[in-house]
Amino acid sequence: MSERLLKLFEETHRELRPRSEVPELRVEFFGFANINNTIRLREGRLLVRLSDLLEGAPDYVLRAIAQILLAKMYRKPVDRKHAVDYRRYVSTQHMSRKAHVVRQMRGRKRIVSAQGHAYDLEAIFNDLNTRFFYGLLGRPQMSWSNERARNRLGHYDPAHNAIVVSRVFDHPRVPRYAVEYIVYHEMLHLKHPVKLRGSRRCVHSAEFKIEENQFPQLEAAKRFLGHL
Ligand SMILES: [Zn+2]
Repeated sequence: MSERLLKLFEETHRELRPRSEVPELRVEFFGFANINNTIRLREGRLLVRLSDLLEGAPDYVLRAIAQILLAKMYRKPVDRKHAVDYRRYVSTQHMSRKAHVVRQMRGRKRIVSAQGHAYDLEAIFNDLNTRFFYGLLGRPQMSWSNERARNRLGHYDPAHNAIVVSRVFDHPRVPRYAVEYIVYHEMLHLKHPVKLRGSRRCVHSAEFKIEENQFPQLEAAKRFLGHL
């Protein structure tokens, strides 16, 4: 724990409550998944957790967050300037952190992408989910395949909870209903899991087929896909 940070919190505490003794303080930085900062009073000790987005932040920002958290703790009004300083800093840090993560992901070999040139598979999934599944299916990882395989339209991979659609269909000349049908079919696999181990066979139960027949452009889609 940094001495400087501790001193900052103590000073702020004195400003807010000049007549009371500063309790024992512990301040630590915490995982960066969100921008949460928390403060708790436990057995006379103040425990502060700061988002690691604030690690290395300049003093005025740390002073701002100290003021915000302590004011919250003691139900005092938050100084507007502090609130603005804090928010401005965090949003720029957050954005640059995000940009960094995105750059790292792009650097990886395996690029998983739901957004194709012609169609966005996540949007198609969400739309079908609302239209046919009451929005009840949890969205798996959606992605266009890297290879342009024609033999497999798409598949649901339960091990990675992913729906992969052959990139061949990411083309403006492919009608939307054809892509929708492929995704719809895989969503039915998601809904009706096959209890087979080590087999990659595509198994369609009677219920599966009944539901598949409810797809409005089934015939047109099959015709289109059959002509490839
Ligand atoms: Zn199938």
